[in-house]
Amino acid sequence: MKLPRGSILIVASHNPGKVREIKALLGPHGIEPRGAAELHLPEPEETGLTFAANAELKARAAADAGHHPALADDSGLWVNALNGDPGIHSARWAGPTKDFRIAMARIERELLEKKAHDFSAKFVCALSLAMPHGEIQTFEGEVHGHLTFPPRGTHGFGYDPIFIPTGHDQTFGEIDPHLKNAMSHRARAFEKLLHSGILAESF
Ligand code: IMP
Repeated sequence: MKLPRGSILIVASHNPGKVREIKALLGPHGIEPRGAAELHLPEPEETGLTFAANAELKARAAADAGHHPALADDSGLWVNALNGDPGIHSARWAGPTKDFRIAMARIERELLEKKAHDFSAKFVCALSLAMPHGEIQTFEGEVHGHLTFPPRGTHGFGYDPIFIPTGHDQTFGEIDPHLKNAMSHRARAFEKLLHSGILAESF
């Protein structure tokens, strides 16, 4: 599987935060990214039981319907004291209005109810690249850290304001977006995709 410079690549996500970060990662590789919302592609139901299964289902649906290669991300926050919740349900915890203040408050409440002392967590990302009606490959990345309350910072999206990556004292909501993009779970999955040689070298 190879994507030459100038290829159109569907970014199979309707989440503007994710699309922005993935487009930034693709930028130096001469790829022409198109958001799934721009192309009016439907959002498939995420019925998989793992990040990888959901990423594959989204990439496959977008590539087949959009007639171009598609890259999908399935990601989420894994909180150790909550046995991995919200995990693959990270988006759903924000409810129909996609209000992550609700989701972050629920995590804080559940940790308090459990009298948890362990606030360690990780973000996990599975990136799948599918060819229309063809091959599919999946790459996974993680970034470890711990949670802090109340939420801090206005950068990023989702759970960024409560997540402090190991070795730092600012949340992903406070850290410069370029720095997040260099160390995130998404960046680490993307590095593996690059090492596979599918994309042209950056310039
Ligand atoms: P899904 O992959 O579309 O099911 O949604 C993943 C959800 O995980 C997002 O809506 C966010 O809530 C959360 N998430 C994934 N990546 C990040 C990140 O980089 N920062 C903050 N939250 C994230």
